[in-house]
Amino acid sequence: MKAMVLGEIAPIGSSPLELLEWPDPRPGPGEVRLEVRCCAICRTDLHVIEGELPQERLPIIPGHQIIGVVDEVGAGCRRLKRGQRVGVAWLRHTCGTCSFCRSGRENLCESSRFTGYHADGGYAQRAVVPEDFAYEVPDAFDDVSATPLLCAGIIGYRALKRSNLPDGGKLGIYGFGSSAHVVLQIAHHRGCEVYVVTRGEKHRELARQMGAAWVGEAAADMPIKVDSAIVFAPAGELVPPALAALEKGGTLALAGIYMTPIPEMGYEKYVFYERNIHSVTANTREDGRQLLTEAARVPVRPHTTTYPLSEANRALQDLARDRINGTGVLVM
Ligand SMILES: [Zn+2]
Ligand SMILES: [Zn+2]
Repeated sequence: MKAMVLGEIAPIGSSPLELLEWPDPRPGPGEVRLEVRCCAICRTDLHVIEGELPQERLPIIPGHQIIGVVDEVGAGCRRLKRGQRVGVAWLRHTCGTCSFCRSGRENLCESSRFTGYHADGGYAQRAVVPEDFAYEVPDAFDDVSATPLLCAGIIGYRALKRSNLPDGGKLGIYGFGSSAHVVLQIAHHRGCEVYVVTRGEKHRELARQMGAAWVGEAAADMPIKVDSAIVFAPAGELVPPALAALEKGGTLALAGIYMTPIPEMGYEKYVFYERNIHSVTANTREDGRQLLTEAARVPVRPHTTTYPLSEANRALQDLARDRINGTGVLVM
C-alpha cells in the first residue's frame, strides 16, 4: 500500500512525511482492517510529528480521524463485517479493568493507547483497528464530512457535555476552529444561542455565516451573561473574562489539552456564585457514539478542505499556519 510515513521527528516545514510503498497491515485477533477512504488532519498530528508529544514509535503512520470500509476481519470479531463503513478515532485501547474504566470514565484510564501515535493511523491506503474501538458511521454523512466528527467533533461534544449547557440556553465559545463549528451546529439544534469570541477574521466570518447570535474579537466585549461557555483556544488569559461573562451557577469548560498559565484572579468577581470550571480530558467511546447519533439528527455539516494523500505535508503546513477554514482531509 501507499502510506505517508514519519521516519524522524522534525518540524513540519521540512516536509518530514514521506510517500512510501509500505507493507499491508494484517488484522490480529479482535481487529479489523480497513480500506481507508479518507483521513482528516489534526493539530495532534503536528504534535506527534514535531515531537511535542513524547516519541512512542518510529517509523509511524499518523492520522486518527479515519473513514474506511472493512476489507478483512480478524479472528474473534463479532460486530463488524466485510464491506461495512466504519470510523476510527484517537482512542484505540483502554484497560477495561481500572476504577475509571469500570465507572464510565475510560477517558481517564492510565493505560489508554492512541491511533497514529502508539499504532499506525490513517495516512495510508489501509489501516487496522480493534473492532471494539471502531465506530459505525450514520449514512447521513459522506466519507469526507464524517472525518472531522471523529476528533474535532468528539472533543467538541465532550466539552459541550462538560459545559452543562441547558436546552434553550446561551453558550459562549472562545476560539472558533473545527471543534467549535461542530458544537455551534449541535447547540443551535438544541434551541440554544451561541456567542463567539475568536481572533481570526476568517473564523469570525464563518461564525457569522453559521448564525451565531453575536461574534466578537475580544473576550471583554461579550455582550451578555451566558449559561455555559467553552474555551477552545489554548490561552489562559481567556479564563477570567470567560468566567466574568458567566451567569450565576454557570459552567466554563476548558477544552484544550494544553493552556498557557491562567492569570491570578479574585474569588468574588470570577468564581463566587457557584460558577464552575470543568477541564476536559479526551473522550469515552460513549461520547463518540452519542456525537455521531446526534450529529446525524442535526445534521451537522462540517466545513472541509481536501488534499490528496501525497500532499499531507502541505496540508499540515496549512494547518500550522492557520490557513484552513474548517478541517483538512486527506483523500486516498
Ligand atoms: Zn485529533
Ligand atoms: Zn482503565
